Amino acid sequence: MKKNIDTICVQGGWQPKKGEPRQLPIYQSTTFKYDTSEQMARLFDLEDAGYFYTRLANPTNDAVASKINDLEGGVGAVLTSSGQAANFYAVFNICEAGDHFITTNSIYGGTYNLFGVTMKKLGIECTFVDQEWDDEKIEACFRPNTKCFFGETISNPGGNVFDIERFAKMAHKHGVPLIVDNTFATPINCRPFEWGCDIVTHSTTKYMDGHATQVGGVIVDSGNFDWDAYKDKFPGLTTPDDSYHGLIYTKAFGKQAYITKSVSQLMRDLGSIPSPQNAFLLNLGLETLHLRMPRHCQNAQTVAEWLQKNEKVAWVNYSGLKDNKYYPLAQKYLPNGGCGVIAFGLKGTREDAIKFMDNLDFINIVTHVADAKTCVLHPASHTHRQLSDEQLMEAGVRPDLIRLSVGIENVEDIIADLQQAMNKM
Ligand SMILES: *Cc1c(COP(=O)(O)O)cnc(C)c1O
Repeated sequence: MKKNIDTICVQGGWQPKKGEPRQLPIYQSTTFKYDTSEQMARLFDLEDAGYFYTRLANPTNDAVASKINDLEGGVGAVLTSSGQAANFYAVFNICEAGDHFITTNSIYGGTYNLFGVTMKKLGIECTFVDQEWDDEKIEACFRPNTKCFFGETISNPGGNVFDIERFAKMAHKHGVPLIVDNTFATPINCRPFEWGCDIVTHSTTKYMDGHATQVGGVIVDSGNFDWDAYKDKFPGLTTPDDSYHGLIYTKAFGKQAYITKSVSQLMRDLGSIPSPQNAFLLNLGLETLHLRMPRHCQNAQTVAEWLQKNEKVAWVNYSGLKDNKYYPLAQKYLPNGGCGVIAFGLKGTREDAIKFMDNLDFINIVTHVADAKTCVLHPASHTHRQLSDEQLMEAGVRPDLIRLSVGIENVEDIIADLQQAMNKM
């Protein structure tokens, strides 16, 4: 039976059979039992599906991956131990030394370092583009060895809205897939596959978990990219894999070639799996995602409008505000609201911003973002401190930017806390 997204949040994933636990069980086991050596051998050759070692697959993790896959409308998903691992695997699954890819420059600071510094050491080069550039300027960045295009639906922390359809078309014109990090929007507010995106990633640490209990990530495959149409570009998927007796992923797994390779090769060899305990916690969060997201957006909209009218505030960036640069794109991709994260700056110095934050009462200063509790962060002093002022500006992070992650408390209390902290400035 085809279900609406709210029902998938609650009912997706784990499907108990007769006499089995109603709630998703935690299969806290590294290993699984078989009756004959032959049965086990077939699993190792990918000839049979089944569990044998939790690094490759675990029933608890699989149930949660399957729920997220259904929420995004994909053909397969894999959980990872963090959002960082998800983005690394998503790109590394189709890029190797000597390859190149393109990303927008407004992405999350951790991903910026991963792509610009660490992957460079592996011989994979990345070009950072400004999505405001015109098509011609961005298209000039594609090279014969370019393997994918990457962007964030709503960038962290700048709040830029990514024009998914435009970049999907551009990527496809150049024969490469579009990968979108959909962490901030979640599938409740945007489903990138509906706009032509090929691969979706998430840091499940954020809204999906929603309670700041586990660090995790996920990769979802739409199954739509035709790897065989660009055989020479993606040899990892279209030519024999020596580590599986010459198996060819696109031949053996069709639409699931990409996601199968990410598990059977990358997860096997690099091993960034979440613990089943963490997957269980993530699943509890997912059960209320459809209730929490509208409240986050509603509260954030009210707070953003309040900030905008406040004389101590220099600027506010929230794509739900009518005069915001990203309002038209938000109307298209996020008609029910984007997320709870607002970026704003106060009139005054960097020190004033820090003093304001220190004056807050229940709104805490934490590195985290996007969970039930309202929190603040000053990226220039915290998450992005490795970046120079120039890189900060390039990433859309002004040095005075305060990232306010609006939670699901009573919005009057949130505003009262902001007000009293400003009064003390
Ligand atoms: C937090 C975040 C990440 C990294 O995820 P972790 O779970 O912290 O490793 C990646 N992308 C975005 C958009 C994020 O907000």
